[in-house]
Amino acid sequence: GGFESLGLCPEVYRGVRRKGYRVPTPIQRKTMPLILAGADVVAMARTGSGKTAAFLVPMLQKLRQHVPQAGVRAIILSPTRDLAIQTLKFTKELGRFTDLRTSLLVGGDSMENQFEELTQSPDIIIATPGRLMHHLSEVEGMSLRTVEYVVFDEADCLFGMGFAEQLHKILLQLSETRQTLLFSATLPSALAEFAKAGLRDPQLVRL
Ligand code: AMP
Repeated sequence: GGFESLGLCPEVYRGVRRKGYRVPTPIQRKTMPLILAGADVVAMARTGSGKTAAFLVPMLQKLRQHVPQAGVRAIILSPTRDLAIQTLKFTKELGRFTDLRTSLLVGGDSMENQFEELTQSPDIIIATPGRLMHHLSEVEGMSLRTVEYVVFDEADCLFGMGFAEQLHKILLQLSETRQTLLFSATLPSALAEFAKAGLRDPQLVRL
C-alpha cells in the first residue's frame, strides 16, 4: 500500500518523491485509491494528517497535463487565504514535473492580477468562496461547467465561517458529472446535509 502501488504516472510519482514522501499517511492510504477510482468521498481528517496530499495527488494524476482551452478542470475551496496559499504551495511542489497551471483567487489580492491570471487558462483554481463568487459575477464567460474535480477543504470551517450560502450557489454552477470531495475534521448536521446535496453516493472515510 505505498505510493508506488497507486499506479501514478511518472511525473506525479516523481513529485511525491521529491516532496520527500515515502509512505502514505493513514488518511492517504484510505482515500487515494477511492478517489483515483472516481468515487465521491467524505473524509474526516484534521490538519497534520496529510489530508492535503490525499486530494492533491489524485487530482494531479487525473489532470496530468495542461489542456489548452479546456477551461478550469479542478477547484479547491479553502476557508482562509492562508490555507489557500499553503495549498497552492503544495500543489506547485507536488506538481512540479507536470505543466499544470494553477491560479489563486483569494481576498486581499488585487482583482486585476487575478483577472490577468485567469486569462492564462489555469487548469486548477484554489479559492476562498467569497472571492470565487466575486469573479463569477464579474468575469463574463467565466464558467464552472468544465470543472471535473471539486474539493471542499476544511469544510467544517467553511461552514463555520458563514460561507454556506455561497457554497450552495457554487454547487449549482457545477456540472452533474464532476467528482466531489469533502475533507473535514468534524461532520456537523449542516455539513452532512450539504454533503447529501453536493456529493453522489459518497464513501465515508474515518481514521
Ligand atoms: P496536512 O495535514 O495536509 O496539512 O499535512 C501535514 C504535513 O504532513 C505537511 O507538512 C505535509 O507535507 C506532510 N505530509 C503529507 N503527507 C506525507 C507523507 N506521506 N509523508 C510524509 N509527510 C507527509
